[in-house]
Amino acid sequence: MTGGGNWTWLLPGRIPTLIDAGTGHPRHIDSIAEALKAQPLAQVLVTHAHSDHVSGAPAIAERMRDVRFCKMPWPERDSRWPAPWEPLSDGDAVEAGDTSLTVLHTPGHAPDHLCFWHDESRTLFGGDLAIKGTTVYIPAASHGDLGAYLASIEKVIALQPARILPAHGTVIHDPVAVLRRYLQHRQEREEQILNLVTQGSRRLMRSLTSCIAGSATHS
Ligand SMILES: [Zn+2]
Repeated sequence: MTGGGNWTWLLPGRIPTLIDAGTGHPRHIDSIAEALKAQPLAQVLVTHAHSDHVSGAPAIAERMRDVRFCKMPWPERDSRWPAPWEPLSDGDAVEAGDTSLTVLHTPGHAPDHLCFWHDESRTLFGGDLAIKGTTVYIPAASHGDLGAYLASIEKVIALQPARILPAHGTVIHDPVAVLRRYLQHRQEREEQILNLVTQGSRRLMRSLTSCIAGSATHS
Protein backbone atom coordinates (compact mmCIF):
# COMPACT_ATOMS: atom_id res chain seq x y z
CA MET A 1 0.00 0.00 0.00
CA THR A 2 2.84 2.43 0.71
CA GLY A 3 5.16 1.56 -2.18
CA GLY A 4 8.70 2.35 -1.09
CA GLY A 5 7.57 3.49 2.37
CA ASN A 6 6.48 6.93 3.44
CA TRP A 7 7.99 10.26 4.36
CA THR A 8 7.55 12.33 7.46
CA TRP A 9 8.79 15.93 7.37
CA LEU A 10 10.70 17.52 10.23
CA LEU A 11 10.71 21.29 10.69
CA PRO A 12 13.44 22.23 13.17
CA GLY A 13 13.57 25.64 14.86
CA ARG A 14 11.69 27.36 17.66
CA ILE A 15 8.82 24.84 17.59
CA PRO A 16 10.28 21.55 16.33
CA THR A 17 7.45 19.97 14.35
CA LEU A 18 7.01 16.62 12.68
CA ILE A 19 4.48 16.31 9.86
CA ASP A 20 3.00 12.80 10.06
CA ALA A 21 3.80 10.33 12.79
CA GLY A 22 5.00 7.40 10.66
CA THR A 23 4.52 3.90 12.04
CA GLY A 24 6.49 4.04 15.30
CA HIS A 25 9.50 2.14 13.98
CA PRO A 26 12.30 2.60 16.58
CA ARG A 27 14.81 3.60 13.85
CA HIS A 28 12.46 6.39 12.70
CA ILE A 29 12.08 7.78 16.22
CA ASP A 30 15.86 7.51 16.78
CA SER A 31 16.52 9.46 13.59
CA ILE A 32 14.10 12.23 14.64
CA ALA A 33 15.89 12.54 18.01
CA GLU A 34 19.24 12.57 16.22
CA ALA A 35 18.16 15.27 13.77
CA LEU A 36 16.89 17.46 16.62
CA LYS A 37 20.06 16.91 18.67
CA ALA A 38 19.22 17.88 22.27
CA GLN A 39 16.09 19.83 21.38
CA PRO A 40 12.78 18.19 22.29
CA LEU A 41 10.13 17.59 19.63
CA ALA A 42 7.25 20.00 20.29
CA GLN A 43 4.43 18.69 18.10
CA VAL A 44 3.26 16.23 15.48
CA LEU A 45 0.79 17.37 12.80
CA VAL A 46 -0.92 14.37 11.20
CA THR A 47 -2.32 14.57 7.66
CA HIS A 48 -4.86 11.74 8.10
CA ALA A 49 -5.68 8.62 10.09
CA HIS A 50 -4.40 5.96 7.67
CA SER A 51 -2.02 3.75 9.62
CA ASP A 52 1.18 4.67 7.74
CA HIS A 53 0.69 8.32 8.76
CA VAL A 54 -0.76 8.05 12.26
CA SER A 55 0.09 4.73 13.91
CA GLY A 56 3.47 5.96 15.19
CA ALA A 57 1.80 8.52 17.50
CA PRO A 58 1.61 6.27 20.61
CA ALA A 59 5.29 5.23 20.25
CA ILE A 60 6.39 8.87 19.86
CA ALA A 61 4.27 9.85 22.91
CA GLU A 62 5.95 7.10 24.90
CA ARG A 63 9.52 7.99 23.87
CA MET A 64 9.21 11.79 23.88
CA ARG A 65 7.59 13.78 26.65
CA ASP A 66 5.19 16.74 26.27
CA VAL A 67 4.66 16.39 22.54
CA ARG A 68 1.39 17.81 21.16
CA PHE A 69 -0.47 15.64 18.65
CA CYS A 70 -2.79 17.48 16.25
CA LYS A 71 -5.09 16.37 13.43
CA MET A 72 -8.58 16.84 12.11
CA PRO A 73 -10.78 14.53 14.19
CA TRP A 74 -12.00 11.23 12.72
CA PRO A 75 -13.25 9.76 16.01
CA GLU A 76 -13.85 6.15 14.91
CA ARG A 77 -10.25 5.94 13.59
CA ASP A 78 -8.40 8.21 16.05
CA SER A 79 -9.35 6.01 19.00
CA ARG A 80 -7.21 3.20 17.50
CA TRP A 81 -4.07 5.29 18.09
CA PRO A 82 -4.10 6.49 21.70
CA ALA A 83 -2.42 9.88 21.96
CA PRO A 84 -3.63 13.18 23.44
CA TRP A 85 -5.14 14.37 20.13
CA GLU A 86 -5.88 18.06 19.70
CA PRO A 87 -8.26 19.09 16.90
CA LEU A 88 -7.26 21.06 13.80
CA SER A 89 -9.77 22.77 11.48
CA ASP A 90 -9.64 24.20 7.97
CA GLY A 91 -8.02 27.64 7.98
CA ASP A 92 -6.21 27.27 11.31
CA ALA A 93 -2.77 28.87 11.51
CA VAL A 94 -0.22 26.63 13.24
CA GLU A 95 3.17 27.82 14.43
CA ALA A 96 5.72 25.23 13.27
CA GLY A 97 9.51 25.35 13.15
CA ASP A 98 10.36 29.05 12.77
CA THR A 99 7.32 29.79 10.66
CA SER A 100 3.57 29.43 10.37
CA LEU A 101 1.53 26.91 8.37
CA THR A 102 -2.10 27.11 7.31
CA VAL A 103 -4.29 24.05 7.74
CA LEU A 104 -6.21 23.04 4.59
CA HIS A 105 -8.97 20.45 4.83
CA THR A 106 -8.59 18.37 1.65
CA PRO A 107 -10.98 15.38 2.00
CA GLY A 108 -11.41 12.67 -0.62
CA HIS A 109 -8.61 10.15 -0.01
CA ALA A 110 -9.76 10.19 3.64
CA PRO A 111 -12.46 12.31 5.31
CA ASP A 112 -9.99 13.87 7.77
CA HIS A 113 -7.26 14.56 5.19
CA LEU A 114 -5.29 17.77 5.77
CA CYS A 115 -2.55 19.51 3.86
CA PHE A 116 -0.31 22.12 5.46
CA TRP A 117 0.41 25.27 3.43
CA HIS A 118 3.48 27.49 3.77
CA ASP A 119 2.46 30.66 1.99
CA GLU A 120 5.85 32.37 1.96
CA SER A 121 7.51 29.60 -0.10
CA ARG A 122 4.23 28.41 -1.72
CA THR A 123 5.05 24.92 -0.44
CA LEU A 124 2.36 22.37 0.33
CA PHE A 125 2.92 19.47 2.71
CA GLY A 126 0.53 17.30 0.77
CA GLY A 127 0.07 14.02 2.67
CA ASP A 128 -1.62 11.65 0.22
CA LEU A 129 -3.21 14.33 -1.99
CA ALA A 130 -0.77 13.64 -4.84
CA ILE A 131 1.92 11.07 -5.66
CA LYS A 132 4.31 11.69 -8.54
CA GLY A 133 3.95 9.15 -11.35
CA THR A 134 0.66 7.60 -10.25
CA THR A 135 -2.86 8.44 -9.15
CA VAL A 136 -4.16 8.39 -5.58
CA TYR A 137 -6.39 5.60 -4.29
CA ILE A 138 -9.86 6.75 -3.20
CA PRO A 139 -11.09 3.95 -0.89
CA ALA A 140 -14.89 4.05 -1.17
CA ALA A 141 -15.25 1.39 1.54
CA SER A 142 -13.58 3.60 4.17
CA HIS A 143 -15.14 6.99 3.50
CA GLY A 144 -13.13 7.89 0.39
CA ASP A 145 -15.06 10.37 -1.77
CA LEU A 146 -14.09 11.12 -5.38
CA GLY A 147 -16.25 14.28 -5.60
CA ALA A 148 -14.63 15.66 -2.44
CA TYR A 149 -11.18 14.69 -3.78
CA LEU A 150 -11.69 16.60 -7.05
CA ALA A 151 -12.86 19.66 -5.07
CA SER A 152 -9.74 19.38 -2.87
CA ILE A 153 -7.53 19.32 -5.96
CA GLU A 154 -9.26 22.44 -7.33
CA LYS A 155 -8.76 24.13 -3.96
CA VAL A 156 -5.01 23.43 -4.04
CA ILE A 157 -4.63 24.45 -7.72
CA ALA A 158 -6.18 27.82 -6.79
CA LEU A 159 -3.26 28.39 -4.39
CA GLN A 160 -0.76 27.95 -7.27
CA PRO A 161 1.74 25.92 -5.22
CA ALA A 162 5.40 25.91 -6.30
CA ARG A 163 6.03 22.42 -4.89
CA ILE A 164 4.36 19.61 -2.99
CA LEU A 165 6.23 17.64 -0.35
CA PRO A 166 4.24 14.39 -0.39
CA ALA A 167 4.07 11.47 2.04
CA HIS A 168 5.00 9.02 -0.73
CA GLY A 169 7.36 9.34 -3.68
CA THR A 170 9.51 12.21 -4.86
CA VAL A 171 9.01 15.93 -4.30
CA ILE A 172 6.57 17.31 -6.88
CA HIS A 173 8.13 20.35 -8.56
CA ASP A 174 5.32 20.83 -11.13
CA PRO A 175 2.30 20.47 -8.84
CA VAL A 176 -0.24 22.42 -10.90
CA ALA A 177 0.50 20.30 -14.00
CA VAL A 178 0.27 17.07 -11.95
CA LEU A 179 -3.01 18.11 -10.31
CA ARG A 180 -4.52 19.20 -13.64
CA ARG A 181 -3.59 15.79 -15.11
CA TYR A 182 -5.41 14.14 -12.17
CA LEU A 183 -8.57 16.11 -13.00
CA GLN A 184 -8.25 15.24 -16.69
CA HIS A 185 -7.67 11.53 -15.91
CA ARG A 186 -10.82 11.29 -13.78
CA GLN A 187 -12.81 13.18 -16.42
CA GLU A 188 -11.61 10.72 -19.10
CA ARG A 189 -12.62 7.74 -16.94
CA GLU A 190 -16.07 9.27 -16.41
CA GLU A 191 -16.48 9.80 -20.17
CA GLN A 192 -15.39 6.21 -20.88
CA ILE A 193 -17.97 4.85 -18.44
CA LEU A 194 -20.74 7.10 -19.80
CA ASN A 195 -19.87 6.02 -23.37
CA LEU A 196 -20.03 2.37 -22.41
CA VAL A 197 -23.35 2.88 -20.69
CA THR A 198 -24.79 4.82 -23.67
CA GLN A 199 -23.43 2.63 -26.48
CA GLY A 200 -23.77 -0.69 -24.80
CA SER A 201 -26.85 -0.14 -22.71
CA ARG A 202 -28.65 -3.22 -24.08
CA ARG A 203 -25.65 -5.47 -23.58
CA LEU A 204 -25.10 -3.94 -20.14
CA MET A 205 -28.73 -4.56 -19.19
CA ARG A 206 -28.40 -8.19 -20.34
CA SER A 207 -25.21 -8.62 -18.26
CA LEU A 208 -26.80 -6.99 -15.23
CA THR A 209 -29.91 -9.19 -15.58
CA SER A 210 -27.79 -12.37 -15.76
CA CYS A 211 -25.67 -11.16 -12.78
CA ILE A 212 -28.79 -10.56 -10.70
CA ALA A 213 -30.21 -13.98 -11.72
CA GLY A 214 -26.82 -15.57 -10.92
CA SER A 215 -26.54 -13.98 -7.49
CA ALA A 216 -30.15 -14.99 -6.73
CA THR A 217 -29.28 -18.64 -7.42
CA HIS A 218 -26.09 -18.43 -5.34
CA SER A 219 -27.61 -16.69 -2.32
ZN1 LIG B 1 -3.51 7.46 3.06
